[in-house]
Amino acid sequence: MTQPPPSPAVAHTRGDLRAAREQLTSRDVAVVMTMGALHDGHAQLIRAARERHTHVVVTIFLNPLQFGPKEDLSRYPRTFDSDMAICTAAGVDIVFAPTPDVVYPDGDPGVRVSAGPLGDVLEGMSRPGHFDGVLTVVGKLLHLTGARSAYFGQKDAQQLLLIRRMVRDLDFPVDVVSVPTVREPDGLAMSSRNSYLTESDREVALCLARALRAGADAANLGPSAVRRAAREVLVEEPLALVDYLVLVHLSTLQDVPEWYRGEALLAVAARVGTTRLIDNFPVLVGPGGGALEVFSDAASSSAPA
Ligand code: AMP
Repeated sequence: MTQPPPSPAVAHTRGDLRAAREQLTSRDVAVVMTMGALHDGHAQLIRAARERHTHVVVTIFLNPLQFGPKEDLSRYPRTFDSDMAICTAAGVDIVFAPTPDVVYPDGDPGVRVSAGPLGDVLEGMSRPGHFDGVLTVVGKLLHLTGARSAYFGQKDAQQLLLIRRMVRDLDFPVDVVSVPTVREPDGLAMSSRNSYLTESDREVALCLARALRAGADAANLGPSAVRRAAREVLVEEPLALVDYLVLVHLSTLQDVPEWYRGEALLAVAARVGTTRLIDNFPVLVGPGGGALEVFSDAASSSAPA
């Protein structure tokens, strides 16, 4: 009979975390940072980290610093027991689930990481200060967990780019690894916020992935064809209130010009009912182009050679 996997050590305080880290046998530690309400997208990040590293730490922390005053912090789903079941099944060593006063013992930190101009566009335009809050907590959780590798989803492409930039610009000794977006069978990108969607919202929400697919399918014709094909799908669905639909350079988040051929990020954000959703496809624009599973290393590398 096979043994059930051992439960992860659960740490709620800095002291718990320190004690749990002391039990680890190797310094080859990877971290997967989450806000909880885990789904198969998170599980995929954990599995990817598990395959390559001796130890995996998962953080579950709803970071108030990255939520605006009118955002969904108070209604964000909290599902700790099922999160633990997912972490146990995936062979996680430590779950670090602190409260805000553990992470920010002196209240809101006066000193924060600034995301700079890349943090002001796309998501940052609708969510001022969001990426400063994200980078500040990512920096702190990297220090607290002592992880040498950190796994993030391409689902949050701008966040991934900014974390890579922070690690590079501020010389964090960490390897950032990205994992492709995990989707439901019908194409909807998995997200903890999908639990807000009513049945009819969920039907409407499918237009995001459909638009990205249509755009990617036009990639051999050039940037304006990509944008047009994606927009045509979105206008058919007036219940999706589009915030942005862009085809941008991965490293600058600026619109790619019409002559551009190469890898680009096709990204969309829209409100469906009360829920703000984001999704993206990496695409290769130009002859033989289309959707990519991942960006090439050259397009998304994290450290200077
Ligand atoms: P969150 O809990 O939403 O902050 O996400 C934690 C991590 O999981 C981030 O690196 C996300 O990009 C990643 N993630 C969220 N949803 C997905 C998904 N559908 N596929 C892959 N990664 C995801």
